[in-house]
Parts: sequence; structure tokens; C-alpha cells
Amino acid sequence: MRPRFIAGNWKMHGLEAEARALAAEVVRAAGARPAVDVAVFPPFTALHAVRQVLRGSRVLLGGQACHEVDHGAHTGEISASMLADAGVNVVLCGHSERRAAGESDDAVGRRVLAVARAGLRSIVCLGETLAQRETGATAHVLERQFIAAFAGVTAAELRAIDLAYEPVWAIGTGRTATPQTASEAHASLRALLVGKFGEAGRGPRILYGGSVKPANSAELLASPGVDGLLVGGASLDAAQFRPIIESA
Ligand code: PEP
Repeated sequence: MRPRFIAGNWKMHGLEAEARALAAEVVRAAGARPAVDVAVFPPFTALHAVRQVLRGSRVLLGGQACHEVDHGAHTGEISASMLADAGVNVVLCGHSERRAAGESDDAVGRRVLAVARAGLRSIVCLGETLAQRETGATAHVLERQFIAAFAGVTAAELRAIDLAYEPVWAIGTGRTATPQTASEAHASLRALLVGKFGEAGRGPRILYGGSVKPANSAELLASPGVDGLLVGGASLDAAQFRPIIESA
């Protein structure tokens, strides 16, 4: 059984004081559920403050994105080794909001490798848009994104990787995938993992993300193939994130 994983993506929210306060609440909630892995992904500017609050706890510190090269003339970017230096444990790769801003499938693959080279864990995000779902292209899109994201990954590197199925039409929209829809997509991703990596492909957790709330988290976690949740909006409010952790 893969340990459940609940991750909170704070996106572009949280000044230092708010980030500290929220992180302290997450530490308390995670402390009460030692069997559940928990991570928070603050904005870069709050990493230092949140790192201090998380120290000594089991909560992982996350980076929301990184560049594919280690250093150089890339104004405004941040590398995986810089995130490691800042105390980050795990990095989101290929979040749909990054893909929508121009990150290609191949760039996601290069970032996954950069994170592995820096010795960090990653959560690789994949998911289809509403138009792709409505035209029956979901399986094809997931396969295309998977092939590019995992092109250079070895079975050894896979041990530090989890996935998140995040249908774009469910992110921040209040529209959640049904447990059945999530399970179908998770099964396709698991088949791709096992097809490429054999038995090692059963190791990564596959999280669901897209308008997860306390009211739907237990049902989603009970769906076959759902190993955890990547939570955006509801992770910004401890009163919502705590029951989501508890439901795992
Ligand atoms: C996300 O940002 O990954 C996400 C799933 O957002 P939300 O929970 O707000 O839909």
C-alpha cells in the first residue's frame, strides 16, 4: 500500500506572516495524522519563512516550479539546485498553469530530470483540457504528456517521483472530477507507468487534483487508484486543509 500523500499548492498567495501562520496550522494537522505524507508549496518568497516553521516536523517543503538548467542568464527563473539550497524537498513539474504559460511537454521532461539531478522529489502534473475531454482525447493527451515527462527518467529516479492527475477543467473551477472519472485516468497513468518501467511503475503515487474540498476529499480518496490529493484553493485555509488531511 502506497502511503497517502496530501499536497497543498499555495500558488501566488501568501505574504510571509500569512505563510508562517498557515504552515504552523499544517504542521499541527499533519502531526495528528502521522501515517499521511503532507507537503506545502508556498511561493518562492515565503520558502525561507515556511522552512523555519516546518523544521522538526514531517511536512515536506515544496517548490512550485523550477527551470531546466542549473544556473545562467535566465532572469526571473529559479533552478532545482537553488530550491534544494533553500531547503525544498519536492518540486511540482508541469502544473497546468505553467503549461498554459508556455511550458511545453518536452520542457516538463527536462525539468523532471533537473529536479532528479538536484536530488529532490517531484510531483509530475498531467491533465486534459475541457475541449480535449469533450473530443475524447483524454487518453491520448495523458499518454503524450507522460511520454515527454518521463522520456529520460530511469527506474532509480522514478523512486523519487509521484504524479498528479489534474484535469484542467477542474482546477479552480469548483467542478470536480467524479471518482469514476478520476479512477479511469489514474488507471491509464498507472498502465503507462507499468508499461515503461515494469514493476517499478507501481511505486509512484498518483494524486488527484482539481477543486478538492473537505466535502469531496474522502470520496475521491476512496476511489480505486487515487493515492492522494493535490489541493489548490482549499489548501490556503487551514479550516479546509485540516479535514482534507484527516480524510486521508
Ligand atoms: C492546483 O492548483 O493544483 C489545484 C488543483 O487547484 P484547486 O484545488 O484550486 O482546483
